[in-house]
Amino acid sequence: MLTWEELENKCRNCYRCSLGQTRTNLVFGVGNKQSDILFVGEGPGYYEDMQGEPFVGAAGKLLDKMLASINLDRTQVYIANVVKCRPPQNRDPLPDEQKACLDYLRIQFLLIKPKIIVCLGRIAAQAIISPDFRITKSRGIWFNKKGIDIIATYHPSALLRDESKKRPAWEDLKSIKKKYEEVRNLQ
Ligand code: SF4
Repeated sequence: MLTWEELENKCRNCYRCSLGQTRTNLVFGVGNKQSDILFVGEGPGYYEDMQGEPFVGAAGKLLDKMLASINLDRTQVYIANVVKCRPPQNRDPLPDEQKACLDYLRIQFLLIKPKIIVCLGRIAAQAIISPDFRITKSRGIWFNKKGIDIIATYHPSALLRDESKKRPAWEDLKSIKKKYEEVRNLQ
């Protein structure tokens, strides 16, 4: 098993898919490597690519507010993406790009050993829960894979585009808070 340092170096030098050719910076992931809860988005956008950090633009500010609403902040959680390099023009990462990069995310799962994974948006949910996952139909439902509780909710970008999604997202956040408290109380 790779160490964190070895994994990050491997990703920094990765050209397993074409996104490696066009990235400005790798967006490896940030946060607490001992956290019980991991948030996974889709891929870096413009600002993330410029700064090498996930969720730093408007969607990032909203994610911070979402975390604060359940008494969490970035020092308490780990945040990563399905792909670690920016897809051009912020298009969806292609299936072969996701497949190439998911190996790295899986190693991050093994290193962090989270009890809870929150998929932010359809791409993350399809990559982690099921390829036919439909976010409008199955968000807010808990799944369990290999002992990890997994849920999907709307991506913050989707909430910025469509106000009507905020209420269901809030319901999901309350469910995530409850599950996180259960997990913490069991320790
Ligand atoms: S997106 Fe992932 S697999 Fe593709 S080049 Fe970047 S680190 Fe490698």
